[in-house]
Amino acid sequence: MPESPLFPADILQDNGALVHHNLNGSFSDSRYIKNKRDVRELQGEVVIAHEHRHYIDYHLTNYGSWLSRFWDQFKQGVPDLLVRGGRIPVPVTYFDDDTIVRALGLDRPDLTTPAGMAVRIASNHALRVERDYLISESWARAFNGPSQMEALATVFEVGPAEHFARGPLVANALMTMPRDQATWQRQYTWFGDVLAALGIRDVIKIGEDHQAVSTRIWGPFLLAAMMGKFSRLFAKELNAEPKLFGEIMPAGRLHAILNYAHQKRVRDLDDPDLAWDIVNDACLDLYGESVLESLSADIEFWEKRLMHGLQDIESLNPFMLGLIAHLETRKSVAARFAENPSSLYDPIEYWDKSQVGAHVLPEFMLASSAGFESIPDGYIQTSSMFYSSPDGDRANFIKPRVASAQHRELQAADEEATAISRFLISGARSRTWVGPERDRVRAWLQSRVDIRVIGPFG
Ligand SMILES: [Zn+2]
Repeated sequence: MPESPLFPADILQDNGALVHHNLNGSFSDSRYIKNKRDVRELQGEVVIAHEHRHYIDYHLTNYGSWLSRFWDQFKQGVPDLLVRGGRIPVPVTYFDDDTIVRALGLDRPDLTTPAGMAVRIASNHALRVERDYLISESWARAFNGPSQMEALATVFEVGPAEHFARGPLVANALMTMPRDQATWQRQYTWFGDVLAALGIRDVIKIGEDHQAVSTRIWGPFLLAAMMGKFSRLFAKELNAEPKLFGEIMPAGRLHAILNYAHQKRVRDLDDPDLAWDIVNDACLDLYGESVLESLSADIEFWEKRLMHGLQDIESLNPFMLGLIAHLETRKSVAARFAENPSSLYDPIEYWDKSQVGAHVLPEFMLASSAGFESIPDGYIQTSSMFYSSPDGDRANFIKPRVASAQHRELQAADEEATAISRFLISGARSRTWVGPERDRVRAWLQSRVDIRVIGPFG
């Protein structure tokens, strides 16, 4: 099985202390690069920094929150989907394809059931993701939502190394990361090329002949592009106002904001605070709201909706709790952002002063395909069904120990539901499978329900 490029086994093996160090937000000295082992440590740290930033952006940006809500909503229909019987296509969105439904003899779930709702939510979501992608196809590189999420995480991955531990050894450590450089450029650092093409900002040189991507002004642009008004992303509104889609989803917004900066003759921008002012002017001009106003309006809208939806529910299932936890974490990240915006758009502030890493600790798991040689202090082997290892075998998945038994139960339910949902939505095509989880999920599903995995999703 091919490994995830983000989690090569040899990097994350036995580096619990390192991970912890990083999550405490202290990536600040150049001690890493004295020898080869240090280079591996630096590489390990930047991988974790990247994933950590994703976690923050799923809460901070309106787009990330839209994605998070989608998964929590889909999960609510999964138990019903699995017990109702009949064949399930992978991806489940094929339930909405008449040809596939006839060819496979599928029995479509009724829209009034949780399973039917989950399928409808998944189909709508897939169409919108696709349309966001199509808007950006007119450009040399697709800069849809997922690409923007990757570029933004890259800022906070490369930034610290770029600015705190400058020099050819660091550049070399980043360039010799065990990943495919062409993919890296296409999927992660593409935004530097776009800014360079528009003259807004060029790449910078590190050392004599090393060239690195300067990421310091990326944050404001990408954050502004991902703050669309998702409270209007409903079929009725979209049908009434065809332009609306491009004003909400990331590709259309980034396109418009860059166009605004280009029209205003912004050139050689190197100050992230100035970039922040420019994108706010752009957002006020284009959408009538500053970045922070868009964020607080989004939180307010979804909080009201969630509270209204929960009014008549007697007991909360784990996924409803997931929606509430998401909202609460969002509010705390947003408060920090409102108080000090640069602490979340400028990588220097982010790592140096704000210690955001110490305040927003993600729920996370570490994976190793080969198995961990030992389990670091403060970590335990993950015991939910796709992540536990047979007795005597090395643990493939570990996570921080949490004190509360109830919290552990919720975590386990969520781990399983997330993995099953990911398979039902994207099959093997999801880029986020780590270690043996994908094969375990597939085997589990195949042994219990009649799934038909279609084409490239297998
Ligand atoms: Zn990523």
